[in-house]
Amino acid sequence: MLWQGRRESGNVEDRRGMGGGTIAAGGGIIGVIALVLNFLLGGGGGGGGSQAPAPTSGRMESQETRAAEDQLSRFVKVVLADTEDTWADIFKRAGETYPAPTLVLFSGSTQSGCGYASAQTGPFYCPGDQKLYVDLSFYDELRSRFGGGGDFAMAYVVAHEVGHHIQTLMGTSEKLSRLRQRLSESEYNRYSVMMELQADYYAGVFAHYQKGKGYLEEGDIEEALRAANAIGDDNLQKQAQGYAVPESFTHGTSAQRMYWFKKGYESGDLNQGDTFNSPDL
Ligand SMILES: [Zn+2]
Repeated sequence: MLWQGRRESGNVEDRRGMGGGTIAAGGGIIGVIALVLNFLLGGGGGGGGSQAPAPTSGRMESQETRAAEDQLSRFVKVVLADTEDTWADIFKRAGETYPAPTLVLFSGSTQSGCGYASAQTGPFYCPGDQKLYVDLSFYDELRSRFGGGGDFAMAYVVAHEVGHHIQTLMGTSEKLSRLRQRLSESEYNRYSVMMELQADYYAGVFAHYQKGKGYLEEGDIEEALRAANAIGDDNLQKQAQGYAVPESFTHGTSAQRMYWFKKGYESGDLNQGDTFNSPDL
C-alpha cells in the first residue's frame, strides 16, 4: 500500500510499554470480537482473561526492532486515517456523520471496555467502548505463523476490526448480543460466523475505496486474501488440533473469509454485504 507521507489518524491511544491492566471481574472476554482464536497463540485455554498479566518491563529491544515497530505503528495510523476517510464518505452520502473509533496500541496486556486483553487475544474491537485493541506483535504472528505477511495483510486486519465498529453503529452487534441468550452455542456460532464474514466484507469495501484512490500496490489484494485464508477457522483448527469441527466455527472458513472480502472489494457496495440473509450461509 502506498502510505508514506500521508495523514496519520489522531484517534490513537498509545499504551505501549505501559504494562498490563488488572484482570477483569467475571473473567471472560464476553462481547469481545477477536480476530484470532487465542488458544492458537500459545496463551492457555479458551476462556481468555484467566492469565496473569504478562510482564512487559525490562524488554530489551534493539534499535532495529524499535525502528520496525515505529514504522508499523505509523503504517497502522495511516490505515486508520484511511478508514476514517472512507467511512466518513459513505456515511455522508447517507446523510449521516461517522463517529470514528479509537485505536489502542498496547504491548503485553491492557484493560479494555470488554475486560482484560493480552497480546494472545489477537486484535479485537470492543463495542462497549468503541475501541480497537491492537498489539503490534500480531503482525509478526501473522507473517511467521500464519503465512499472511505483507503490509496490506495488516491493513485488512485493521479494516476488519473497523468493520465491527460499523456493525456496532448500525445496531447489528446489539441485535446479536440480545440473541445470544436465546441461542444454543452452536446456533450462536452460526451468527458469529455471519458477523465475522460481514466484517470481512466491510474490509473488502474499504479495499475497494483504497484502490479507487490509487493507494493499492501490486499484490496488496493477494496479501489480504492470503491473510483471510490463513485465519479461517478450518485452517486454524487443523493447524492446532489436526482436524476441524464446523459447529464450533465462529469466524468462517478460509474460503468464506476470502469470498466475502473479495465480494466487498469488487462491489464496494454496502448493500450487498448482508451475510445474515445470504443463501450461501
Ligand atoms: Zn472479527
